[in-house]
Amino acid sequence: MRIEVLEAPPAELLAGLTSLVGNICPFPGCADLPSRVVEFRDGSRGRPTMESSLLLCASHSDQAGRGEIGSGLLKTIRGLLKPDRGPKGGSRSLATRDEYLATIRDRIARGTRSLRGVYVGPLPLHPDWYFNLRDGATNQPNMDRQVATCLDAPGCETFLIFRNSPRYAEKVRELVPAELMPVLVAQIIGRIDAVYGQSGSNHMVCADTGIFHIPVILDDAVITAFRSTPQTPVGSGLLVTDPDQVHWERDAFDRIFAYYCSEVAGVSQVERMKEFVRSLLTGASSPE
Ligand SMILES: [Zn+2]
Repeated sequence: MRIEVLEAPPAELLAGLTSLVGNICPFPGCADLPSRVVEFRDGSRGRPTMESSLLLCASHSDQAGRGEIGSGLLKTIRGLLKPDRGPKGGSRSLATRDEYLATIRDRIARGTRSLRGVYVGPLPLHPDWYFNLRDGATNQPNMDRQVATCLDAPGCETFLIFRNSPRYAEKVRELVPAELMPVLVAQIIGRIDAVYGQSGSNHMVCADTGIFHIPVILDDAVITAFRSTPQTPVGSGLLVTDPDQVHWERDAFDRIFAYYCSEVAGVSQVERMKEFVRSLLTGASSPE
């Protein structure tokens, strides 16, 4: 695999990559302005393609050029930027938000030995009464109860990335009466302790996955969500059961998860999450 920083990328390629990442370097955890095209490819030369290129910030393109970022991670980052990476066969489109959520619930209920996904806020650690309140308000059962059963099932390996964003806090404050907020916060913190213990960051990391499209990944299925904008709720989805694709998604997730874990090594993820949950009481949250 050769990795090269392109001094003069074709204009079309630059435009395509820019529309993919916007104005944020897609390297995990980075928020710098992307400025340089890095090409990575096996084998023969030719025109650089969208599939084999990434637009990164100055510092990450330098690191990539010096070989300090592995080609595997570059490929994974590029792959995760595509919302529509489902294969031609072995997939079924989920036309509505309801169908998307029902598919995840059903697939978990069938019994899965693993679950990987990204959550905006620690929703699967909320108590039952919160789910009742929320499902009553939206008239739409969610997937959080099923994910919560995975967290409790000894036979299910659950890896979650929590994006603890102000968007979650706003939604919770809208729904929960102020006098119940201390109860909610205490119960979520109790669940965090019960599930993750006091010390470890085992199988959980608090990180902002930025512009990556990370689906829900089960043993034998990947369920991808589509949103019309990053801030709007899921509008539809795609169920993929092709074993190669499921395998790719699991590998990509594990690579990104391991990256976030190494980034925050030494920081207690449990404490970080509790601090975020406590912020529900104070109303302190900055805009996303
Ligand atoms: Zn960067």
